[in-house]
Amino acid sequence: MKVIEHIKKSKSTLFSFEILPPLKGKSIHSIYESIDPLLEFNPSFINVTYHREEYIYKKREGGYLEKISVRKRPGTVGICAAIINKYKIDTVPHLICGGFSKEETENALIDLQFLGIDNILALRGDAVKTEVSFIPEPNGNEHAIDLVKQIVQLNDGKYLYEEEMTNSTSNGGFCIGVAGYPEKHFECPNFASDLKHLKAKVEAGAEYIVTQLFYDNEKYFNYVKLCRDSGIKVPIIPGIKPISTQKQLQSLPKFFHIEVPEQLADAIDKTDDEKKVKEIGIEWGIQQCKELIKFGVPCIHFYTMGKSESVRKIAGAIF
Ligand code: FAD
Repeated sequence: MKVIEHIKKSKSTLFSFEILPPLKGKSIHSIYESIDPLLEFNPSFINVTYHREEYIYKKREGGYLEKISVRKRPGTVGICAAIINKYKIDTVPHLICGGFSKEETENALIDLQFLGIDNILALRGDAVKTEVSFIPEPNGNEHAIDLVKQIVQLNDGKYLYEEEMTNSTSNGGFCIGVAGYPEKHFECPNFASDLKHLKAKVEAGAEYIVTQLFYDNEKYFNYVKLCRDSGIKVPIIPGIKPISTQKQLQSLPKFFHIEVPEQLADAIDKTDDEKKVKEIGIEWGIQQCKELIKFGVPCIHFYTMGKSESVRKIAGAIF
């Protein structure tokens, strides 16, 4: 079932979460181990992230450097299929522009449709470590909106190089979600143009938005208001990631371009005990979620990053 149908059908706040494919070499059981503890909260859907290849340089005979592409976390499509098969829970594979030509994107879409997957979170992806800024593949999609448009075309039965339209797709078309940034996307010069690009993604066919993680609800509330004022009407699902280690005080702002509120950062700074840090993160998450539910959010989407313990404790307190 589509995410948007889950939202429309429900009178209360839904629970969903995101997992990431394990490092290559591990089995599907490591995925099940992170899902099983969260089943009792009846997740409406489970997102599976996509991780593009990285590049390494190997020194070859004669001293020249060979650029080699390495995949560290493969398997998004297969994991989605395995989850649907084992748990009968809807999945949302993340699909990115980076590393994909439009032909490869079409092949991925055909596979997803064949497997009976109804949803896609359409993203641009970040630059690979060896590039200063994002570079699309030759004949690839440049922005998430271009990917949204390609999915919509396929939903309408229009493939890239086939003259004739086929009937629209057998799953009735993918439900498309896109990303939003309550603290602004880091590359965008200002909030107004970030919102303009977000609105364009919705007008192109995105049916809901999932936000980047945040720790200050006021930023989310303000973001929702700015979206509504600029005519974005679709559901805006907040993304929550409980802080669980002291190191994350530096890594989360660095990787996700978000702020950790002073009160939370101070509380974590004051202790050397990692167990206590986890407790602080859980308590902050519970208070955040309670306030979000009161605000009437359609769903709370948790970033597990492969660890379900803190999410389980928060979900236990609020669902
Ligand atoms: P876009 O919507 O393309 O926006 C990127 C930037 O370009 C923004 O600054 C935007 O304002 C600007 N922009 C957009 N359209 C235009 C235009 N037409 N002209 C000029 N500028 C434009 N990354 C992964 O690699 N794998 C994942 O699984 C993944 N999951 C994510 C899930 C969520 C919920 C979120 C919030 C992010 C996720 N990301 C993931 C990270 C994401 O790929 C990055 O944040 C990326 O930098 C931007 O992606 P986007 O889809 O928002 O891009």
